[in-house]
Amino acid sequence: MDLQIKDKVVLITGGAKGIGAAIARACAHEGAIPVFVDRDAEAGEQLQSELQAAGKVCGLICVDLQVPENCSSAVERTLQDFGRLDVLVNNAGTNDRVGLEQGSPEKYLASLQRNLLHYYNMAHYALPALKKSQGCIVNIASKTAFTGQGGTSGYASSKGAILALTREWAVELLPYGIRVNAVVPAEVMTSLYKEWLSSLPNPEEKLQQIVSKIPLGKRMTHAEEIAAMALFLLSPQAAHITAQFLFVDGGYVHLDRALS
Ligand code: NAP
Repeated sequence: MDLQIKDKVVLITGGAKGIGAAIARACAHEGAIPVFVDRDAEAGEQLQSELQAAGKVCGLICVDLQVPENCSSAVERTLQDFGRLDVLVNNAGTNDRVGLEQGSPEKYLASLQRNLLHYYNMAHYALPALKKSQGCIVNIASKTAFTGQGGTSGYASSKGAILALTREWAVELLPYGIRVNAVVPAEVMTSLYKEWLSSLPNPEEKLQQIVSKIPLGKRMTHAEEIAAMALFLLSPQAAHITAQFLFVDGGYVHLDRALS
């Protein structure tokens, strides 16, 4: 299948590592131009060098998206450098464990800033360019919006809001032909996931326990598998798909808990 995304400019937040980097690599592989926005400059430069060495065109913007002006300038720089913007992939997030007991009103607000507000801000600032290109938005959410996790009110509620915004924007942007969809990962081995695991008393034991409960294949989802879904959704091959939540999780969220 030809995804028909050659030369499309795809802005990916948190695109230097993990799922975002897998989306950036997949975009480049298909001839699109990934522009990754990330606060981890070292990882961003490594990915940029890797893609450029393979003869790919890409862009890197090193900012922290928690500052609204940085969201605005990321869009502006993309337009300056590449002249257009076809896709926004909202992906940056941090499972920061701000819970009811271990949190506070201030920490909760800060968690929303880390996980939610920049999704809105990026979409807001990208919209004029997306209207011009009749582009689309892919939001990366999390299974925690459906299952909860315990001790992570800020992250889980941000992910729930991201799903609500996916539906809300799909409606608001219908007149412009802009599609909005969400991908819902569950268990993907990335630096974020490793950090969460290492915060637990017995990381290896916990990992084995989780993997044994993933119905399809008893394995973690690969970041490349999340990327494959994101790429399909952002491509014209998904031209009649909007407002959807796509679970790429080996059946983890929906299948019978009694499965062994
Ligand atoms: P990751 O490995 O930590 O990669 C995310 C990248 O985004 C990191 O480079 C991170 O920088 C950057 N970033 C985070 N917040 C940022 C900000 N405010 N401004 C600029 N850059 C920022 O994470 P991942 O596992 O790929 O997660 C990507 C998305 O998938 C997240 O939204 C996450 O909630 C979602 N997700 C992941 C899983 C999973 O199992 N991995 C499951 C469900 C949902 P730092 O390293 O400096 O933070």
